[in-house]
Amino acid sequence: MTDSFNRPIDYVRIAITDRCNLRCFYCMPAEGMPYEAKSHLLSFEEIKRILIVLGTLGFKKIRFTGGEPFLRKDFMQLLAETAKLEAYESIHITSNGTLLQKHIQKLKDLGITKINLSLDTLNKDRFHEITRRDDFEKVMQTFYMLVDHKFQIKLNAVIMKGINTQDIIPLAELAKKHAVDVRFIEEMPFNGGYKNNKDMYRATDIFADLKAYYSTLEKLPSHHGDTASLFRVPGYKGNIGLIAAFSRTFCGTCNRLRISSKGEIKSCLYDDGTINIRDFIRSGVSNEVLADKFREIIRLKPMDGFTAEKMRKSPSNVMQSMSSIGG
Ligand code: SAM
Ligand code: SF4
Repeated sequence: MTDSFNRPIDYVRIAITDRCNLRCFYCMPAEGMPYEAKSHLLSFEEIKRILIVLGTLGFKKIRFTGGEPFLRKDFMQLLAETAKLEAYESIHITSNGTLLQKHIQKLKDLGITKINLSLDTLNKDRFHEITRRDDFEKVMQTFYMLVDHKFQIKLNAVIMKGINTQDIIPLAELAKKHAVDVRFIEEMPFNGGYKNNKDMYRATDIFADLKAYYSTLEKLPSHHGDTASLFRVPGYKGNIGLIAAFSRTFCGTCNRLRISSKGEIKSCLYDDGTINIRDFIRSGVSNEVLADKFREIIRLKPMDGFTAEKMRKSPSNVMQSMSSIGG
């Protein structure tokens, strides 16, 4: 399916839970967010049905995210069911890496090897400062286990002024020895509404830091749906990426739909939800009607994140936490 700007839309991201065991300060306040009642989250069957319907519309890529997806008890079962759906060429997971170690073999057995691991620093104290938890060693251990098991890892680091800009080069250096993409993300305003992040460290600032250190940095060609601009340092096994999530320079090739943990469809990260698909499904609609609804949502997808933001129904101050949107 293409939207009205002729962009093929074939990638869905589902936040399967809003629960999380970390409290990253750019994502939510220290006390966390009030969790949705379990009955408000999309059920296993609802998620499966959505995936089947989207598969008939040509969706090829799915990402499971959260909250922390591995907190959801039926997640591995959901992955096993999704792996059976022929429509999907690739299944991806975004995780904070604290709970996934024991599932590594099962993930491999299912052929699910594409993991985005969130890690904003290589410093234990800063890890605590950012996530408000002490799981640094566990996440590093997960990283090395995934490397050993030859997973395709993308390491995502949110870079914030005055917090972890000193981690840019140490994190980028992980790409020297390991075939991982280390991607730096601009902070976005979805932190549960408690923090103003106007003083941004932009992708252009991160690029300047990288360029100052790596004089041989080369830009790599981009592909359909890429949000990251990718670079390589000659001789390095992995690549380095920049995701201008706040500057929004990649909207022209956007290929995605997001579904929040309670079923709100976001056709753009910066809109405030088009429809609650959970309620729509629970009203008893058929798969044909559901498919038509998705067609309509895709047709109305806004041109870019700035347009979506202007069209918001609620005040422009974003009160949502990324833990329910999924990143
Ligand atoms: N808990 C999992 C994790 O952290 O990987 C998955 C969900 S998390 C919401 C998905 C991604 O969103 C993570 O890479 C996280 O760093 C990113 N994220 C969360 N809040 C953000 C914000 N305010 N700005 C930019 N990225 C954010
Ligand atoms: Fe949890 Fe991920 Fe949000 Fe951190 S970014 S609090 S790990 S959902």
